[in-house]
Amino acid sequence: MQIDYIIVGHGLASVAVVEHLKKYNKSFLVFSDENPNSSSKVAAGLYNPVTGRKMKQTWKAAELFPYLEQFYTKLENSLQAKFLHKRTIYRPFLSLEDQNDWMSRTETNDVFVTATYTKPNFQAYIKDQFGGILLNNSGFLDVKEMLEHHKNRLVLDRQFINERIDFNLIEVQKEKIKYKKIESKNIIFCDGPLSQNPFFNWLPTAPVKGEILHIKTEKPLPEEIIFNRGVFLVKNPQQDFYRVGATYEWKKLDYEPTTKARKQLTDKLDDLLKLEYEIIEQVAGIRPASKDRRPLIGNHPELKNVFIFNGLGTKGVSLAPFFANEFVESIINSKKLNDEVNINRYYPLYSS
Ligand SMILES: Cc1cc2nc3c(=O)[nH]c(=O)nc-3n(C[C@H](O)[C@H](O)[C@H](O)COP(=O)(O)OP(=O)(O)OC[C@H]3O[C@@H](n4cnc5c(N)ncnc54)[C@H](O)[C@@H]3O)c2cc1C
Repeated sequence: MQIDYIIVGHGLASVAVVEHLKKYNKSFLVFSDENPNSSSKVAAGLYNPVTGRKMKQTWKAAELFPYLEQFYTKLENSLQAKFLHKRTIYRPFLSLEDQNDWMSRTETNDVFVTATYTKPNFQAYIKDQFGGILLNNSGFLDVKEMLEHHKNRLVLDRQFINERIDFNLIEVQKEKIKYKKIESKNIIFCDGPLSQNPFFNWLPTAPVKGEILHIKTEKPLPEEIIFNRGVFLVKNPQQDFYRVGATYEWKKLDYEPTTKARKQLTDKLDDLLKLEYEIIEQVAGIRPASKDRRPLIGNHPELKNVFIFNGLGTKGVSLAPFFANEFVESIINSKKLNDEVNINRYYPLYSS
């Protein structure tokens, strides 16, 4: 069998890359070992253009956010499924000082701010005595649902193999890659964190474990709003629970839910939520992050047909579509890949 691309992995990265390759009618096969704890399957899928204690626009928000909504909406239409849920994010102020800080600099973030409140707005549900801001161009992607529909389409089109790629069996030749009976012109690794990929083990990765609680509240919160301060509260309309997350742990990288994370999340939740709640589940995953917190995308320093699209970290939903477009354009049309994501920034670390 001869194809243009072998794609390793089927998560957010892979979906975005595959969809951009399809535009050029490239042939490909996706290999995935279907890890139920993969980052994409655990993620809450939130996309939020203004984050952090200082409420700053996230990196490249003006380019990433309009592109992501367009990308996932098109994918929904093509797969005849619903997984992008546009929502307003409400971020309550922490204090009067927090409110004053914001009021003195709203002009820098105004494209994403729908409204600013200096009085409580959702007191029946949360603690927002100092008001807060409402954000647009935000919401969440039901990543699991998207992956399921996407995989089903790939299976129908005979483009999906449910198998873990054995790195030892990949033969890289000058003009082609051989893997078992398959010959491909190129291979792209979208293999997420901790994959021990021998082609890219020189890249400075910094995987981060994250945990999320699933809770039920005594009464429903307003459906169209995601509350977000310290933790987010996200509900999929098809499910009867809220996701509350997430934690960050760099040292102990496993998939086990911990009491430490549970306490961190419930402490923050108690600072935000006024309603009684019950924890029904706790899940853990590992984010494929990098040391400089920028994606790891591009071409192997020596092997011209070996590529990586990884390092999406905490923001896979918003980073994947925009940079998959740049990445595919760089491979097919030799367009320049953004220097901040291009792995050539780390070529000096590579030795053959
Ligand atoms: C708790 C938590 C909460 C998160 N919340 C958000 C959020 O709200 N918003 C957001 O944007 N991001 C969030 N993220 C981050 C987001 O999940 C990641 O950025 C994104 O899913 C990474 O996608 P990926 O495709 O690179 O990796 P993955 O999802 O890990 O996919 C890689 C796939 O490759 C497979 N694979 C690996 N090696 C092989 C092999 N040899 N052969 C075959 N298959 C292989 C793996 O099994 C896996 O299925 C969260 C992550 C976690 C853990």
